[in-house]
Amino acid sequence: MSRVVLCTRHLGLTATTKLSQPAPSLIQQTGSRPPRHVPVRTFRSTSHLPEKSSHSPKANTSWPSTSDTKSLSDIAFAFDIDGVLYRGGQGIPGAREMLRSIRSKNMRYVFLTNGGGAHEDAKVASLSKRLGLSIDEDVIRDRVILSHTPMRGWADEVKKQTVLITGSHPETARKIANEYGFERAVTPADLIHANGDLYPFDNLKDTLHSEFRPLPDGKSASAIKDPYSRSLAGNALKIDQILVWNDPRDWSLDIQVIHDLLVSHNGYLGTLSSRNGNRGLPNNGWQQDGQPELWISNLDLVWKTEYPVNRFGTGAFLEALKGVWSAVTNGAELHYNALGKPSQFTYDYAHTRLLQYYSTMEGGREVGGRKDATPLRRVYMIGDNPESDIRGANEYCPEDGTEWVSILVRTGVWTETETEREPRYKPGAIVDDVVDGIVWALRNEGVDVDRKTLLAGGA
Ligand SMILES: [Mg+2]
Repeated sequence: MSRVVLCTRHLGLTATTKLSQPAPSLIQQTGSRPPRHVPVRTFRSTSHLPEKSSHSPKANTSWPSTSDTKSLSDIAFAFDIDGVLYRGGQGIPGAREMLRSIRSKNMRYVFLTNGGGAHEDAKVASLSKRLGLSIDEDVIRDRVILSHTPMRGWADEVKKQTVLITGSHPETARKIANEYGFERAVTPADLIHANGDLYPFDNLKDTLHSEFRPLPDGKSASAIKDPYSRSLAGNALKIDQILVWNDPRDWSLDIQVIHDLLVSHNGYLGTLSSRNGNRGLPNNGWQQDGQPELWISNLDLVWKTEYPVNRFGTGAFLEALKGVWSAVTNGAELHYNALGKPSQFTYDYAHTRLLQYYSTMEGGREVGGRKDATPLRRVYMIGDNPESDIRGANEYCPEDGTEWVSILVRTGVWTETETEREPRYKPGAIVDDVVDGIVWALRNEGVDVDRKTLLAGGA
């Protein structure tokens, strides 16, 4: 069975997403594209893995005896992590051997996770540990893309701006942001230590918010006395971007501070825009006065741990913020930008990394300072979350015409229930686990492989 996928380049996120972006270099011009035929088939269980792909010109390629993998050099994989490679602290059985196996074939792959809050190298270390891989094995490193990793590629002029950063561990997030090149990063802790009146509760001031720094460039969080005065002191703090780095812990403080900036005049903390509530303006005047852009690192409402019920993620924080915003503004829209899956920004970043894989991964460095691109024909995205992994891959249509094909595993957040027989966003295939996902993909490419041989190749 084949299906037709329309290239709806811009996702539904745009309903609540501003089109103005702070990083022009990230933006690709998109035009209407013709429908594409994606030659994949949907199979409901691993007992029905495709024997061979009838459409593939490479049928009868063997595995793992194939030593010349040039025939597979134009396909690649993108793995989600949580719920795909491990669940809680436990690695998914066979994931380690499978990864070693495809690594031994010099196949291209990246890890594309909506997780964040830590440095990419820390994620490499934790993933290696959970999978029982040596940190010295070249299986994980330099291949991890976190939800906030695309910010590395933002324009220098944006990185020179003053940004508010919040997340699970704001100080850690700031250090990562500094390493990305953001020179003026402020956390909520900085603000409450700079102005004790900003937040009337101090329960977490000496714990979660104990680490703080002086405001950049001698700015003050106490310079504004009259919120409507436009005679602004030279040292008044102005925030240009709001970066929700990953799932925040102190929702109360973060929602308060983000609200304050979104109702401000031009991002000056402590001011109020005179345009708020003006029915003659778009969005009734809300977010129409130079307020900072709001960036959410991912939209995952829930994520999977070893606890039997899914846990709230960054998307849950956003929904809480939306609820407060709607109440405050009498139903105005909250304008924000989203990174992470299913955002096109994130898939663009991953796609570029895969294209440049061979020129950047040799020894973990660029070769001769160049990042030559090696064309791709098809990328398989293997994930557990229909709303992010599957939707993002289905809707992503890179300019070079590469097909992104989604594969959903049963080891994560999605399970078939009485009320949800099929996920809302339909994958190319549903398989039991990530190993079967690779078997399905390789068979779809005409490679004669089964689970046993794939695992033996990486033992
Ligand atoms: Mg996941």
